Amino acid sequence: MTSLSPLLKQATPLVVDHALGSWIHATDGKAYLDFTTGIGVTSTGHCHPRVVEAARDQVGKIIHAQYTTVMHKPLLALTEKLGEVLPAGLDSVFYANSGSEAVEAAIRLARMATGRPNIIVFQGGFHGRTVAAASLTTAGTRFSAGFSPLMSGVHMSAFPYAYRYGWDEASTVAFALKELDYLLQTRTAPNDTAAFLIEPALGDGGYLPTPPAFLEGLRERADRHGIQLIFDEVQAGVGRMGKFWGHQYSTATPDIIVTAKGIASGFPISAIAASTETMSKGWPGSQGGTYGGNAVSAAAGVATLDVVREEGLVENSRIRGEQLQAGLKEIQGRFPVIGDVRGKGLMLGIEFTAEDGTPDAATAGAVQQATTAQGLLSLTCGPSGNVVRLIPALVVTAEEISTGLERFEAAVGAVVG
Ligand code: PMP
Repeated sequence: MTSLSPLLKQATPLVVDHALGSWIHATDGKAYLDFTTGIGVTSTGHCHPRVVEAARDQVGKIIHAQYTTVMHKPLLALTEKLGEVLPAGLDSVFYANSGSEAVEAAIRLARMATGRPNIIVFQGGFHGRTVAAASLTTAGTRFSAGFSPLMSGVHMSAFPYAYRYGWDEASTVAFALKELDYLLQTRTAPNDTAAFLIEPALGDGGYLPTPPAFLEGLRERADRHGIQLIFDEVQAGVGRMGKFWGHQYSTATPDIIVTAKGIASGFPISAIAASTETMSKGWPGSQGGTYGGNAVSAAAGVATLDVVREEGLVENSRIRGEQLQAGLKEIQGRFPVIGDVRGKGLMLGIEFTAEDGTPDAATAGAVQQATTAQGLLSLTCGPSGNVVRLIPALVVTAEEISTGLERFEAAVGAVVG
């Protein structure tokens, strides 16, 4: 009998029967409160009626038109809607299917726009699993071990991880910016450097918001050296962090932005946006692909952006995120094994540490498993795998957050007693 490959790492043994809003109904007959949202994808909750309706309607009109062959209406509408939320000056967009593809496309674009080869990434960053995206990923060797050589021209600089360094945020930011200046002085000269690529919060690298001052320091250096600043908003964007874009906690704006995941509530589509001037430095046909900008995904994207705006989901993310974070901090007070609780909006990480502060992956893994037993779905992340991450749907209610907190505490209690 054929089975699924052991190369896939299953976080839970569940099989879904159906799902709605924040709830997954599994074939074991139980309902699970889903604080994973398909790794931060089902932003409007599972099967939001308006997203379902938009997709159903589109399936009967055209499923696949291939937008560089024949344009379709949903993609024009999505482009217009994105225009309402994209950072100022980023007035040109193209589409792919996944986050990894979009990151690769952004790298190609930055190289073409600057005529320079090298990319600087930041420790703990996750940018995808294709070979090029894996080359840009430093969230753990598990994302690249065994299939090198990777893409060349990638350099890594420090990320201001205040909790791990044990310093205050300002000192950590100053240190990380000095490390970056040193890298530009000693390894990849500004004239050889096409882009800085960074997430507004480390995602798979540990659910750690990037300090606003660090993004601002990158912006200043990007301007000074003619380097493109790329924000990978694949996981942090579309309201996840309590602002429409995660980088909006800072005054820094990107030259290129990459979005995917939450943009279409689960339908595969990603977008790359930059100024027309930047885009014009490439040549027609240098980007694209068969399935990018699919019509059904685009229709779901339009409905998603409408729901996010009309239901006030960015605001809900902020408010419910504060509720969840406050509750988690109370739980932290009762369990010394929780070293850090952090995040913005509904992108929250709980870092498990031993008494001496070293990462405790065994407890984090056991807690993640125990949440399933309590009827709450969670995931782990971080280079050491010692962070449990909670990623509820942006439609999550106050009551669901309370239920989630009760179940999370019960799970921690079941593991550490
Ligand atoms: N960038 C970030 C910040 C991500 O979180 C992810 C996915 N976890 C990716 C890129 C890659 O996206 P995908 O899995 O859709 O290729």
